[in-house]
Amino acid sequence: MKADPDVLILGSGIAGLSAAITAAEQGLEVLVLTKASSFGDTNTALAQGGIVGPAPEDSAPLLAQDILSAGAGLGYQRAVEELSQKGPELVQSVLIDQCRVRFALDESGHPDLAQEGAHSVRRIHHWMDRSGQAIHDGLMARALKLPRVHMEAGKMAVDLLTSCHHSTDEQDRYRENRAIGAYVLDVESGEVEPVLAPLTVLATGGAGQVFRHSSNPAVATGDGIAMAYRAGLSIINAEYVQFHPTTLYHRDFPNFLISEAVRGEGAILVNRDGEAFMDRYHPKLKDLAPRDEVSRAIYQEMEKRGDSHVLLDATRMHVDPFKRFPAISDTCRRAGVDMSSEPIPVVPAAHYFCGGVKASLDGSTSLPGLYAIGETACTGVHGANRLASVSLLEGLYTGVRFGQEASGYREKVRQSHRYAVPDWVSPEIESDPAHIHNDLSSVQGLMWNYVGISRTRRRLQRALADLNYLNHRIDRFYREARPSRALVEMRNAALTASVIARSASTNGRSKGCHYLSS
Ligand SMILES: Cc1cc2nc3c(=O)[nH]c(=O)nc-3n(C[C@H](O)[C@H](O)[C@H](O)COP(=O)(O)OP(=O)(O)OC[C@H]3O[C@@H](n4cnc5c(N)ncnc54)[C@H](O)[C@@H]3O)c2cc1C
Repeated sequence: MKADPDVLILGSGIAGLSAAITAAEQGLEVLVLTKASSFGDTNTALAQGGIVGPAPEDSAPLLAQDILSAGAGLGYQRAVEELSQKGPELVQSVLIDQCRVRFALDESGHPDLAQEGAHSVRRIHHWMDRSGQAIHDGLMARALKLPRVHMEAGKMAVDLLTSCHHSTDEQDRYRENRAIGAYVLDVESGEVEPVLAPLTVLATGGAGQVFRHSSNPAVATGDGIAMAYRAGLSIINAEYVQFHPTTLYHRDFPNFLISEAVRGEGAILVNRDGEAFMDRYHPKLKDLAPRDEVSRAIYQEMEKRGDSHVLLDATRMHVDPFKRFPAISDTCRRAGVDMSSEPIPVVPAAHYFCGGVKASLDGSTSLPGLYAIGETACTGVHGANRLASVSLLEGLYTGVRFGQEASGYREKVRQSHRYAVPDWVSPEIESDPAHIHNDLSSVQGLMWNYVGISRTRRRLQRALADLNYLNHRIDRFYREARPSRALVEMRNAALTASVIARSASTNGRSKGCHYLSS
């Protein structure tokens, strides 16, 4: 691995890559690590709908108003205003001009802007339903061209290193505590080594895998949240987990996302009798109501009727599904559904973590030397619920803002002394895969049933009690076994789950995507 980087970035999604590119352009040596075997194994690459960018009918106040109202009034006004004012132009200057990301154009060569739920105007730049892949490809191509960006796959951060707790110089315990890097597991060999850096960035994405049904890829186990929590940072708004209303209900393609843009183009939700039920739940916005309301309506409809799923009728859309949604129509076809002539079976699934490590839009946290960007961070932009297509924008903006400030941050610590930390000592015993599988599946099951779309005080109390017990057992098991990616992920998922359950149980007021039915 690149020795002595100025910046250690954990994660290769939109946040990590945009931070790496911008920091390298400021002259810093950057090391980007991902625990996955491929840099593209991210939430970013799976994004379908697109990213909010410049749009002729739009304005910063209108965008801010939409973000704040989707966030049920809990958003941080200053952050929302800054993002709305300065974020969209980065789609042009960074993604389109610098990284050559291709977005769809209309017949006259102007951006073909899409609309999604709770957006007042068409402002979403997309590349059909492969928008995230197009963005990731562009960022990767740019990052790989920069000699100061060093990238390694299969390297997983296990825990953050902090000066007061890990420095071998005992005097450091009396000085200001700061992040100084991370212990990193080589996923292939099982060896753990410390990687020291003056600036450490958590860009580790979300935590969807904490729930049984999730649209997120396997990497989304809340590692950044858990590492920051163990290092003593505040995790805020953790009760606000957004559930996406429509993922494919099919055994062989579990939780494949059917983008909201499909409803934006005219598809409607119907129950198994063919009734368009959203009229009853949200007469004004119907199928394009905020995600939490649509998810709850589907959940209630399923619960009331004893159905395992509902249907999404895309047969009367205004666009050709095969052209506009090639990935979705192809996956549906492979699942035996022709979306142009028959409805798609769908269920809701955990999708986006609105909470996270408390951070400013430039990534700074309460721990000097530690930065959090993208979905791992909570900047207050999303409040109690996220407006569609704003998370990629926030990932891009926080990454670029961090990168722009990074050389200043680096200057401040240039004079500080070099740290040394102890080598990692691994127990000899291999972890038992049956334990890992069983414990992770217990966490996912109880989060889905007790801390899911519709919560009650009793369910939350039960979840907390079960999670306390599980975390206690898992911690013992973890300390006695050689680390592996699966073991570290399971430990992080269990801890993140208990952070979410605790926040949910201490917040007795339904708001946004935290919904208490009793
Ligand atoms: C199916 C789907 C569709 C979506 N569609 C949209 C959309 O249309 N528009 C929109 O705005 N948002 C969308 N989102 C949300 C959006 O994609 C994410 O919020 C965003 O991509 C998060 O970016 P990120 O860089 O923070 O994290 P990610 O892109 O998830 O990247 C996280 C990175 O961290 C790495 N990592 C994790 N833990 C560790 C560790 N311990 N050590 C080292 N590396 C680690 C991962 O391997 C990965 O490289 C969608 C999400 C999903 C799942």
